[in-house]
Amino acid sequence: MKTPTAADSTGFASLGLAAPLVAAVAALGYEEPTPIQREAIPVLLAGNDMLGQAATGTGKTAAFALPLLNKLSEDLKTNRGKARALVLVPTRELAMQVAEALHKYAKGSNLNVVPVYGGAPMDHQIRALRRGADVVVGTPGRVLDHLRRQTLNLATVEVLVLDEADEMLDMGFSEDIDLIVAETPKERQTALFAATFAPRILSIAGKHLKNPKKVQIAQEKRAPGKLPQVRQVAYIVGKGQKTNALSRILDFESPKSAIIFCRTRLEVDELTDTLNAHGYGAQALHGGMMQKQRDRVMQLFRSEKADILVATDVAARGLDIDHVSHVINYDLPTAPEVYVHRIGRTGRIGREGVAITLCAPREQRFLQYVERLTKQRVEIGKLPTEADLRKRRLEAAKDAIRERITAGGLDDTKELVESLAQEFELIDIAAAAVAMANEGAERAGVPQEAEADSRQSRSYDDGPREERGYKSAPRASREPRDEGPMTLLRISVGKEESIRPADLVGAIAGEAKIPSGVIGAIKIHDDYSLVEIPDELAERVITALKRTQIRGHRVTVQSKPAR
Ligand code: AMP
Repeated sequence: MKTPTAADSTGFASLGLAAPLVAAVAALGYEEPTPIQREAIPVLLAGNDMLGQAATGTGKTAAFALPLLNKLSEDLKTNRGKARALVLVPTRELAMQVAEALHKYAKGSNLNVVPVYGGAPMDHQIRALRRGADVVVGTPGRVLDHLRRQTLNLATVEVLVLDEADEMLDMGFSEDIDLIVAETPKERQTALFAATFAPRILSIAGKHLKNPKKVQIAQEKRAPGKLPQVRQVAYIVGKGQKTNALSRILDFESPKSAIIFCRTRLEVDELTDTLNAHGYGAQALHGGMMQKQRDRVMQLFRSEKADILVATDVAARGLDIDHVSHVINYDLPTAPEVYVHRIGRTGRIGREGVAITLCAPREQRFLQYVERLTKQRVEIGKLPTEADLRKRRLEAAKDAIRERITAGGLDDTKELVESLAQEFELIDIAAAAVAMANEGAERAGVPQEAEADSRQSRSYDDGPREERGYKSAPRASREPRDEGPMTLLRISVGKEESIRPADLVGAIAGEAKIPSGVIGAIKIHDDYSLVEIPDELAERVITALKRTQIRGHRVTVQSKPAR
């Protein structure tokens, strides 16, 4: 493997990609190629056909999309606006996802990407194809429809990708694929991706690929016993529910110190902001930060002044910290080996560790790979409910009381209890004291909703966390909602107005006078933001936002059901 140069801090240029594409992935916050990208990109750039084994989540889209765009960008004049590349995918969702990814990578290249899939109006797609489609991403059925209507012509295709070929075969698209491939020129370059190299995959590859190079990410053999003994739990959650799920998990687990892994720099920054806006003390760590900043963050984490570190794999590599109690995979790692490296940060030197993974329903296959590699079970967990959290809080109170009694120095307080004991039963006095302490701890944890910004640095400005309430009490400020129906609000300000999650939480919680804990997932786009709010509070929030400004901007708010 080549090592990245200073001019190519991400390592993508050393794979042979052109500068605009390297810039595009850097702008998306990618820090280095994933294993499949490292192997596949040079093979495809050299013009070979390729048979790749890679599942969803490994970064396989970029593995074929970047070389494809690289090739088309070399000559932007010939067949301009005609279908020069075709990506066949099994489902409408994947068509949208792949088209979106291609669109992002192609930014600034003048190449048009058009998705065509079933279940959407035909005339829109026909118009989009007529306007010019250099890259068509489609499901086999809809692509055939367009071929029959002659609204799509594949005679100019230079690159053909069969993505998730095993799923396409499972869905009965085998004949459709043959018909579609027959419409493309023989001298095209073809790449096929599947999760396995089963005989039926090799057979379709034999039909449509010319001397393909096989790219298979070798699975490390690991001696049993070398892995730390950590409890491994996965929660299956949809993309839109990840932030909520994470909050609940953090509240329940109340980690002493956790590393939360995201894939990209942008995601690290976004999640750190969101966590801080919701009252957690989180610090970001990624390769885009200056060494001095990174040292500062590491110092805070090492000295246990910051208990949550949100990091990319690259930034966390080589970190030598012994006290990590929880590793949380907010985004799945790009390969099972990366998972093993990540969870190796916890459970060190005989300490107990927990590895938690948030996994989308589509990504569950990854967990099987991990189980095979680690020879350990990954338990599928159920997200803690509000009752679980309350129980947990009381248990923490019990531990704290036990510790306090052992520490001694209670003579003054005993006098007080003795005088109260003349009026009340001892058990009532003790219960009242516990309830008051609990309420106190909750108040200490309740953030001033309108001061979301100032809470950004609470992890170290507020002193060690045990001074903020019970040492291991789940954060009382976060009264988690039970999964009720949510409304998605589209607010007309975004990155272009320098909006951060804290601004939205501050404005919503402060103006509508609702606890920040009930605010769900937040996603900030270029010129708008999406925020989930419980149905019953949506109207109140909309009315409140109409009266206010966010970062000096008046906003409009639209709503629709979130789930
Ligand atoms: P895929 O396996 O293509 O569905 O990609 C899964 C996710 O990984 C997508 O959200 C990509 O944006 C992200 N991704 C792809 N390549 C990289 C990379 N080199 N670094 C970080 N994230 C990546």
